[in-house]
Amino acid sequence: MTGPALHRRPGVWRLLLAAWWLAGAGMAGAMPVFQPGEGSLGRALSDVSEEWLHRGEDEPAAVLAELEHAPPPASGVSVIEWQRMRARTRGLVAARSGMEEDVRRALDTLASLSADAPGDSRFREELRGDQALIQAVLQDLLGHPVNAARQGRLADQAYDQACGSRQPAADCDYRAWWRALHLQAQRAEVRGDLVEALNLAERAHAVAELGLDPGLEGWSLAMQAVYQQALNHPDQARALIAQADRGVRRHGDIRSLIWVRFAEARLALEGGDATTALRLMQQALRLAEPLHSPRLQARILPSLSDLLRRVGRPREALQAVEQAYPVLRRHHELRGQPTLLHNGGLAKLQLGQVAQGRADLETALKLWESTGARAAMRVALQEGSDALAALGDVRGALDLLHREQALRGEINADNQAAILAQMRATYRTESERRELDLLERENALRSSHLQTQTLIERIWVAAIVLLGLAAGVVGMLALRARDATRRLRHSEALLRVQSERDPLTGLANRRHFREVLATRGGAAFRGALLLVDVDHFKRINDEFGHPAGDAVLIEVARRLDSSVRAGDLVCRWGGEEFLIYAPDLQGEALDVLALRVLRALGDEAVALDNGRFLPVSASLGYAAFPLPTHQIALGWERAVNLVDMALYTAKSMGRDRAVGIQSVAAGDALALQVLEADFEAARLAGEVELQVSLRREY
Ligand code: GH3
Ligand code: MG
Ligand code: MG
Repeated sequence: MTGPALHRRPGVWRLLLAAWWLAGAGMAGAMPVFQPGEGSLGRALSDVSEEWLHRGEDEPAAVLAELEHAPPPASGVSVIEWQRMRARTRGLVAARSGMEEDVRRALDTLASLSADAPGDSRFREELRGDQALIQAVLQDLLGHPVNAARQGRLADQAYDQACGSRQPAADCDYRAWWRALHLQAQRAEVRGDLVEALNLAERAHAVAELGLDPGLEGWSLAMQAVYQQALNHPDQARALIAQADRGVRRHGDIRSLIWVRFAEARLALEGGDATTALRLMQQALRLAEPLHSPRLQARILPSLSDLLRRVGRPREALQAVEQAYPVLRRHHELRGQPTLLHNGGLAKLQLGQVAQGRADLETALKLWESTGARAAMRVALQEGSDALAALGDVRGALDLLHREQALRGEINADNQAAILAQMRATYRTESERRELDLLERENALRSSHLQTQTLIERIWVAAIVLLGLAAGVVGMLALRARDATRRLRHSEALLRVQSERDPLTGLANRRHFREVLATRGGAAFRGALLLVDVDHFKRINDEFGHPAGDAVLIEVARRLDSSVRAGDLVCRWGGEEFLIYAPDLQGEALDVLALRVLRALGDEAVALDNGRFLPVSASLGYAAFPLPTHQIALGWERAVNLVDMALYTAKSMGRDRAVGIQSVAAGDALALQVLEADFEAARLAGEVELQVSLRREY
């Protein structure tokens, strides 16, 4: 009997689940002693807490008892801060082992601390965050993903309120905030929402940066790598994982390193190389050994067992399962159990223990079903079907395949409905090239969907005819159906990203921007628009090559993004053109923003990878709508057209400057149309009042 072919997409979700348990394990090396005066107090408390959390992983009852009587440090920290840390740590230790009674007590303590500090709103927010985080961790452990995600969001909001804009970022516990984001990212991935997962991992990385924690930074980069790979961006994934590895090896701790290896194994498996994946996973396990944490090992072992089975070593796979299972049971870790049962079941099938193997598979499916883990169930059904087909149990294989198809139909229908809703909203104006592109993509997607359906129908007919014939043939057909759906899933995920973001710069794309603008005021567009065009950009391409041009665009996008406020929207409007929408800006404040943008782009040369520096400048056209003085209503398209004319004026005046339309002399819609038809003439005739700002006074 052969194992499932290695080139197929592996059960990546299983690695993911294991990764997610790993996330439960904390950070840091050995620093249990509280040392006021070294760094910030918040950080020192957080370090102590991490140490308790690590030990609590394996000995929750003992650590909870110790915490109960732990005295406050002699000096340097307020009693109430100490009490908060202690209660939060107790709550997390208890939550991670499903000790609901202790969780409840910790939550009560946090609530009473909140009542004791009525005046300190920041502290109360932090307490609110702690309470939500503890509940998120517990719900997650008990296999309630929806509740876990909701509590995770609440924790994120509370920590953001408390720590988001703190300067300097001293006494905040960024690890707690990071944990809330990390947990949500993983929930999003399990739901199949990769774009959101990626966003959350990026935010988690930013929070780790704020907290100056290179271990967590590396961890979040590794997560991003995994999500990028799943979104079919292998180059970005490679760059991210290399960055994670460098950072963690230079500054991080052993647990982060374990997780980076873990992510590397996932990437290798995604790339079809189970042997390398196995080697990396074994490395992760070896790294974990000196920490003497059965719990940590139990989070690595399921993935290891999966890989062992894949490379045809079912006996060792089963051993790994049997080593991990009692540990998870002891800590009530429900979410990990179906994965282990499923892996063990497949290994048993390979070893010829058919009845027991099938029973394990069914139990695992039931557990997943009870938590709504549809994505996990689908892959499990596929793998089960393959395994039964390989054993010659054609009827059993078809039964599982049938269930898988029904489930896939459900999931696809949901995805399709979401995509169609999105497409419908943008069918209105089809003149732009980008829209046409997307339309074509959508058509390709649909026809690929149809092809898949047809293929599946054919396979069914064939399967019925072939029933009783060689099991291998059925298995192969099942594989083809799987291949087709995998392609479909990939293009769906890709389509979702492409439909909103510009792939080069990561900014909103033109399509997304238009959707947003179209909702602002309809025929009477309101708000400021700034159109930015890089000067002589073609020369950069010509002289330094297209990749250098791309690097400049990425940097320009970054500078633009950091020049605007949170409520403003920046998009890549075209090749080297960017459009900014600032809903609330006008008058002098708008002139100031235009100048700030000019300076952000032009004051500092752009550094290229090869060490060269390229001076860059840009021209701007801008205006706030409705335009003074007659405030004639116009749609957003005409507003863009007007700032484009101002931009042209800036170019013709010599570039590297901003031209803002202050007012127009048109008294009615018709007069405005006449003015638009020949803007240059109107300008020369003094019918348009312009504000011209140079980046530098010459
Ligand atoms: P001006 O100052 O008048 O704006 O001159 P310009 O050269 O910047 O403007 P022009 O429109 O003549 O050239 C824009 C160039 O931008 C042409 C096109 O090849 C290049 N371009 C468009 N998109 C990309 C891209 O994604 N990457 C790179 N490297 N170049 C791009
Ligand atoms: Mg241009
Ligand atoms: Mg240009």
